[in-house]
Amino acid sequence: MNVVNQYRDPVLIKKLADKIHHLVRFMDRPIRLMEVCGTHTHSIFHFGIRDLLPKNLELVSGPGCPVCVTPTNYVDQAILLAREPGVILTTFGDLMRVPGRLGSLLQTKAEGGRVEIVYSPVDSLQVAEENCSKLIVFLAVGFETTIPLSIITLKEAQRRGINNLKILNAHKLIPPALRVLTAENFKIDGFILPGHVSAIIGLNPYRFLAEEKGIPGVVTGFEPLDIIHSIYRIMLQLVEGRIEIENTYHRVVKDEGNIHALELIHRYFTPVNSEWRGLGEIADSGLKLQEPWENFDLLSNKNSSTVQSLKHGIQQILVDSSEEESCICGLILTGQRTPVDCPAFARSCLPESPLGACMVSSEGTCAAYYRYDRRKGIANV
Ligand code: SF4
Repeated sequence: MNVVNQYRDPVLIKKLADKIHHLVRFMDRPIRLMEVCGTHTHSIFHFGIRDLLPKNLELVSGPGCPVCVTPTNYVDQAILLAREPGVILTTFGDLMRVPGRLGSLLQTKAEGGRVEIVYSPVDSLQVAEENCSKLIVFLAVGFETTIPLSIITLKEAQRRGINNLKILNAHKLIPPALRVLTAENFKIDGFILPGHVSAIIGLNPYRFLAEEKGIPGVVTGFEPLDIIHSIYRIMLQLVEGRIEIENTYHRVVKDEGNIHALELIHRYFTPVNSEWRGLGEIADSGLKLQEPWENFDLLSNKNSSTVQSLKHGIQQILVDSSEEESCICGLILTGQRTPVDCPAFARSCLPESPLGACMVSSEGTCAAYYRYDRRKGIANV
C-alpha cells in the first residue's frame, strides 16, 4: 500500500468510526467538536467523514481560514491602495475576489488598479526590483504557517537594499482565537487542531485549552484516517475524563514545533491586538513588526502621503456606508451557524459571485458546503 492509500484505508477508517459510535454511547449529551482549520473542513466534506459519525456528534467549522477572518476594513484598505497611481499590490490569489465595501481587488484590477498575484511573498521582491519608482505593498495575510515567509521576504529585501517594498500587515495567531472560542456560549467539547499551524508552533501554545479550560485538543493531518483518528482520540479523552493536548500528526508536527521559525517570528514581531471577522478584536492575536524592521510596515510610516490618503479614504467609506451586512460569515467562523442557515447560500452567493469571504477562499466553510453539500443547503432553505 502506498503512503497516501495507507491514510485512506477504508477498513481502518470504518474500525475507528465504529469505535467512535461505541464511545459516544457513554456520553449523556450531544458532543460538539470544532475543526479549527479550513483545510480540515474541506477534507471532512471531501471524504464524507460526517456521514460516518453518530448523529449526536456534531462537527462545526472554526476560524482557521486566513482570508475569511480578515476584516472588511482590510479589504477596503487594499482596494484604496490599488487605486493609488504610485502603488502596486502583491497578493495571494485568494484575496482577489473577497468583497469589501468598494468591490473586490479583482474589480479594482479590471478598472486599472495594479494588483499582481504572487505564489509566495518572496515573488514581491522581483516586482519591487522591476518597478523601482513604485511603492510595492504585499498583502501580508495568514497565520503562523505563512509568517516565516513574510519574514524571509523582508530579510531578503534588506539584504538586496530594496526600499520600495512594504507590507500591509494582517498576520494573525491561532491560539488567542481559540481562547475566545472556549467561552461557554460556543459549547465546544473538543478541538481538532490544525496540522500546518502546529508544525510551526508545536503543542505548547494549546496547553491552556486542557489545563485552564478543561477542553481536549488533538493535532492532526488532512487524510481521512488522520481526521477520524483525532475524533476518536478526543472521544476517548472525554469518556475517560482525561483532558490533554495530543499530537497524532507526528510525521509532520514535532511537539516543540519548528524552533527556527518560532525564533524568527519572535525576533521580527511582537504580539498586538487584532481585529477578526466574526470574533472582533482579540488580545495579542496579531503581530507588529518591531525595530529595526518596523519601517517595512506600511502603516508605521504615519506621515507618508500614501498612509494619509488611505486614512482619509477609510474614514470616507465609514461615513458613506450605512448598509447592514447580510453575510453571516462571522457566525459561521465561530461555529454558531452553518452556511445552510444563510438565505444567500447557493442562491445569490455563489463561488463565482461571492457575497462574503467564506464563499471565496479555497479554505472557506461556505465554499466547502457549496462544493460538497449544496443540494442539502438549498433543500433546507
Ligand atoms: S453563503 Fe455567502 S453571504 Fe452567506 S455566509 Fe456564506 S459567504 Fe456570507
